[in-house]
Amino acid sequence: RTVYVNGDYVPEDQAQVSVFDRGFLMADGVYEVVSVLGGKLIDFDGHMVRLKRSLAELSITNPLTDEAFLTAHRELLTRNAITDGLVYLQVTRGNPGDRDFVYPPADTPPTLIMFTQAKPGLADAPAAKTGWSVVSVEDLRWGRRDIKTVQLLYPSMAKMEARARGADDAWMVEDGHVTEGTSNNAYIVKNGTIITRQLSHDILHGITRAAVLRFAREAQMKVEERPFTITEAQEADEAFITSASSFVMPVVRIDDAPIGGGKVGPVATRLREIYLEESLKLGV
Ligand code: PMP
Repeated sequence: RTVYVNGDYVPEDQAQVSVFDRGFLMADGVYEVVSVLGGKLIDFDGHMVRLKRSLAELSITNPLTDEAFLTAHRELLTRNAITDGLVYLQVTRGNPGDRDFVYPPADTPPTLIMFTQAKPGLADAPAAKTGWSVVSVEDLRWGRRDIKTVQLLYPSMAKMEARARGADDAWMVEDGHVTEGTSNNAYIVKNGTIITRQLSHDILHGITRAAVLRFAREAQMKVEERPFTITEAQEADEAFITSASSFVMPVVRIDDAPIGGGKVGPVATRLREIYLEESLKLGV
């Protein structure tokens, strides 16, 4: 694989970042994941808007213009012959030359790395027909989940707990209400209404979430943005998640309770179809 490091395209085994990089020592950095379908970058502009917001919230210098980011994305797709998959990008505060809690001077160059992951048939995931099972776990993350930081240890632990319990993912719960999945936003459907937690510092503002809610409203579906409990989810007609890499994925089981008879429901199915259709049209 050819990867990108600070302006250079290099074979992955020759890519180098300092051991003093703040991303490595302190998880001081942010990231984005853009999915690629048929060679098109899905919702690229949305991901750029969120990247700039994450960087600004942490006072990390933005290393490139949107145009230069797009060029680098396309260059990586070409060099790695990717038509279906994703592009991962990460910006960290860079290398201060030593370990220190104080930020380095503002003119310290950030570290930008990017790489691709090939995922042939990404849009035809068999799981979309059968749905995921999820387990609930306590949400033990920090208080600024709206910033897309590379500090992913707790979501990773929650994912491992889900796997140990025979499930596909975990839904995290705080003060009795679902925040989100380990790497996705969470939804339920009751009597035709789509219910998902409102935006705040408590959850990541999913780019797929914004698109799916827009498409749902355009299709005259009812949307309610509010918190819901695990019990309410277990009594719902349907459940699903959204993320850039899974698009819309039905959820058919929560903590051993089947949702909608354990079968993928019509709303999740329809939203997945609409999302895939529309995002192909909007891809760049
Ligand atoms: N919530 C969390 C915690 C995530 O990590 C992600 C994916 N990175 C999402 C939601 C979904 O965001 P998006 O639709 O932009 O991929």
